Amino acid sequence: MNETCSWPGCNASQGRCIDGVLYCAVHYRPKLKEVVMAGIRAGVDDKAQCKTVPGWKNRFARWVTNDDCLSPGGLSKAKIVGRGFDFSINGQRVRFSIERHPAGRVCLQKWEFNAETDELQLLDESILTAEFPIDGNGDARCPKCANLLEVSAGRIRCAECGFEIQHEHTLYPR
Ligand SMILES: [Zn+2]
Ligand SMILES: [Zn+2]
Repeated sequence: MNETCSWPGCNASQGRCIDGVLYCAVHYRPKLKEVVMAGIRAGVDDKAQCKTVPGWKNRFARWVTNDDCLSPGGLSKAKIVGRGFDFSINGQRVRFSIERHPAGRVCLQKWEFNAETDELQLLDESILTAEFPIDGNGDARCPKCANLLEVSAGRIRCAECGFEIQHEHTLYPR
């Protein structure tokens, strides 16, 4: 492996690797974006496999979460890589689906990354299964007393009777 940044004309000696090639703090993100954009232009299949950019899904997840520094809606790099599916590209927009497991329910989320504006946006979220009833208005009801439940990512709670479901990984909700 090179000891210095592989960006043309740069001799900085510390940084991060892309495909085993070192880039310094200044050039890592530009290089990562170049790789991601090459995949968007070339196209990827529904599993985010790109014929010309190996490991594109990982590069994409690194880019949109800023190497896990930014996790929009609790969406980490590892979650996108491990659970993202149904990828599609339309122009500069990348869409994908992901199953999430907040407390007491399984949700299906659809996300869109707009490479033009560099924004990752939640398009749609639906509950696939829940450990509590959902009424005609889509509201979560307590299975014990039918009161409206307080719903957050890490916890489902009934203020009336104390019924509660906590996420099993409450330290790292969702
Ligand atoms: Zn550099
Ligand atoms: Zn209750």
